[in-house]
Amino acid sequence: MAHDHDHDHEHDDHDHDVEPDEDTQERAETEARRQLALAQIRQYGDPALRLAAHEVEDFDDDLRRLVERMIALMHDAQGVGLAATQVGVLRRLFVYEPDEEGPRALVNPVVAERGEETSSDEEGCLSLQGVRVPVDRSTRLVLEGKDEHGADVRVELDEYAARVVQHELDHLDGVLIIDRTDDEHRKEALSTLRPRAVLR
Ligand SMILES: [Zn+2]
Repeated sequence: MAHDHDHDHEHDDHDHDVEPDEDTQERAETEARRQLALAQIRQYGDPALRLAAHEVEDFDDDLRRLVERMIALMHDAQGVGLAATQVGVLRRLFVYEPDEEGPRALVNPVVAERGEETSSDEEGCLSLQGVRVPVDRSTRLVLEGKDEHGADVRVELDEYAARVVQHELDHLDGVLIIDRTDDEHRKEALSTLRPRAVLR
């Protein structure tokens, strides 16, 4: 899932007489890292995004290396979640970081409880660049699964964090935000995505 960038450019007013070159260079480097990460994340049109992932069976070094790589990509791409299917690995795991508590991995996640209340908010996706659509999600969710070492994990999530993990869970079943939004927004999103899909 992608961050909201709407407020990125609001604080430029006082920067101009303080090392503007350094600031500009840093921004350029951050953007270059983001583009490099996005180039390693499967984009809309890639069949891997539409396939259901399989359970993880081996909690080995390969799995932990995959988690490390996914966390690095999520950071560089400035996302708040990344599913294994988005890097072409059809295994049931995702990484997420909805708050200041650091990145976490969830392996073989299942929904143990789901609150009845839902809310709608805009979501973006690292695999659907340039698209933001409203999606209805449960506001409270309990997930059970394993961490990357095979230890049992049970997490209770609400609001934004609940939204992020529902988005990532969908990826493990080949479901994208354009499947979850209304017809009007889907049509608009597809017109943004189609030219790019044809060029690949
Ligand atoms: Zn996504």
